[in-house]
Amino acid sequence: CGICGVVGHRNATPLIVEALRRLEYRGYDSAGIASLVDGQISRRRAAGKLDHLQAVLDVQPLAGVTAIGHTRWATHGLPNETNAHPHATDRVAIVHNGIIENYEELKAEMQAVGRQFTSDTDTECVAQLVDFYLDQGLSPRDAASKTLGRLQGAYAIAMIFAGHEGLMIGARHGAPLAVGFGEGEMFLGSDSLALAPLARKIAYLDDGDWCVLQPDAVEFFDSANLRVQRPVQTIALMA
Ligand code: GLU
Repeated sequence: CGICGVVGHRNATPLIVEALRRLEYRGYDSAGIASLVDGQISRRRAAGKLDHLQAVLDVQPLAGVTAIGHTRWATHGLPNETNAHPHATDRVAIVHNGIIENYEELKAEMQAVGRQFTSDTDTECVAQLVDFYLDQGLSPRDAASKTLGRLQGAYAIAMIFAGHEGLMIGARHGAPLAVGFGEGEMFLGSDSLALAPLARKIAYLDDGDWCVLQPDAVEFFDSANLRVQRPVQTIALMA
């Protein structure tokens, strides 16, 4: 029930695990991280507590400076490793909090064009849709905005793209999401608590917004895909 993302210049995994620990209070049943390693999507997921994910990471460390992480509170599909986020194809990895209300329709549409699903979640159709649009030649931001326009329900989403180091797209619709500003690194998080150790300056997405993060820039767009500005707040340092 929490999201964290990092586009930066240092190993993102410990930053994400720490942020996910700060989101533990929301409750969760499984957790996972995806990052770009040599431009390819690499994942580690585990059912149960973050300690289980950490145990997996201890055996199979995850490199990468562009990464997303998730704690899941299952709504669709059992709380097991297969259904744990991130959900991914070869081209895109996605974390999602909330519910995609029209997932059955979107899943059927993707299955009708021959796509195989590997989980029972509502979320996986988002990864499949983005991948489908990327496969048609759309850029990551066009594929993301086209996909977001098709989703009904409540969501906070973060995605990363194979071959696009230093790029992350986030979206908010009925579930909170904030951007944290670092020094040559940018963050996404479910709330300021997750971002507190990472960034002193944060900006909340308005409902319906999506954003494009790069290590030294963020662009915000509203639900009509118009470029907008969102106020940046300075938060108190946590003890
Ligand atoms: N509906 C999604 C799932 O069941 C996301 C749940 C969440 O908010 O963690 O996988």
